[in-house]
Amino acid sequence: MTFQQILFSVKYGLYRPQTAKAHREYASNQYLSKDELDQINWTKRKKILKHAYANIPFYRERWTSVGIHPDEIKKPEDYSQIPRLSKCDLKDHFDKLKDSSVQSKFLVVTATGGSTGMPVKVGHDSRLPLEAHGWRMLGWWGVKPYMNAAYVWRVGQANLGLKGILNSTLWWPTRRIRMDASNMQQSDVEEFILKFNLLNPPILQGYTGAIAHIASVVRQKNLWVKFPKAIWVTSSPVSKVQRQLIEEVFHAPVYDQYGSCEIPWISAQCAERKGLHINYESRFVEYLDQENKPVKQGVSGRIVITDLEDYVFPLIRYEIGDMGRELPDPCTCGVTLPMMDQVLGRTTDLVHLPNGSCISGDYLTTVFDDYPDAVRGFQVFQSADGKITIRYVPNPDDPRVRDIIKKVTYEIGKRVNSEVEVNAQALPEIPHDRGKLRFVISELDREGK
Ligand SMILES: [Zn+2]
Repeated sequence: MTFQQILFSVKYGLYRPQTAKAHREYASNQYLSKDELDQINWTKRKKILKHAYANIPFYRERWTSVGIHPDEIKKPEDYSQIPRLSKCDLKDHFDKLKDSSVQSKFLVVTATGGSTGMPVKVGHDSRLPLEAHGWRMLGWWGVKPYMNAAYVWRVGQANLGLKGILNSTLWWPTRRIRMDASNMQQSDVEEFILKFNLLNPPILQGYTGAIAHIASVVRQKNLWVKFPKAIWVTSSPVSKVQRQLIEEVFHAPVYDQYGSCEIPWISAQCAERKGLHINYESRFVEYLDQENKPVKQGVSGRIVITDLEDYVFPLIRYEIGDMGRELPDPCTCGVTLPMMDQVLGRTTDLVHLPNGSCISGDYLTTVFDDYPDAVRGFQVFQSADGKITIRYVPNPDDPRVRDIIKKVTYEIGKRVNSEVEVNAQALPEIPHDRGKLRFVISELDREGK
């Protein structure tokens, strides 16, 4: 045991013993049989339904209005009878979603960054050992939670002033460096890389777009950079183009983790990177078709999630606004937690056509997948007048760029049946939305929100 590890265990043992306990539990759960895992998940689902009916006014009223009582949900197949919870419900009924029987000091309220087009407030139970999910995930990548780390993130209150000093002291001797993703000038990136090389952390974590931006600056400026063990991207899906760029620059695998402000720690890739393992003992994930029926195995559907652990502000069958699909085959890494495919695009990011139809973000995020070398970044932008612009950062070393851009523009034009104008625009870099890079932005889609 290293000094870092001993001190880390002692501090967590005193400060948050529930996290160490959960970590031990999660570490053994990940090798249980499918039946055993299903049993844990189903028991927790029934329990949270009962709790919500008894203690949360919103659920009691909503379920009563459609004639549903938790006692009638006897088999897993019955679960889909429970009404879904929309983002609008969350926005309109925040106060009725809180458990009034719990002391308010355990309720922490946060707001989403609005990455899905509708900023919402959400509550969480501060006692939950959420970090334990992260510890299990880091273990899959050969990284320990007490190791040094580098973050590219929005710098929050916890990192500033006295709070920042206290935070660093609590983590000592583990060192963590941060780069503010909401303001990334070239000089900031160069300074961050200097610090990064000095610390030599095994893990680099942050917004996908921000890390891809750093990688492009490193490549452009030909900066020397130390190689971490793993790169953990989150907040927006990573495209093939971005993955290739980041991995080439940092010589480390990029791992995808899926979660949101409303329901964090949903799933993460293991070292095999064949899909994302769902944190099944605390999350239940469903994939629904347009008629709100479960899709056939392996088919993409709207993701609906139940958080099985938060009793202070329960989110039951929450429409998270993403599309995804189940991967039925077990993973070769030995972890038995069920798998989902990488989440592509946001269902709220749709390109609208004059005839009333929409083009899904899923499709648009893949337009350069066959040509990962041609561009260093891209974004499909639809302005309020309906026109579509394919913004891209060309790779000056690839002589095929012009032809490929022509081809992609033609393909999208075909897709929209020439109803709207489609143009391409070369840019030195893709504009960020407070550090988050969005693949598909439609001003028409945002107007309706
Ligand atoms: Zn695996």
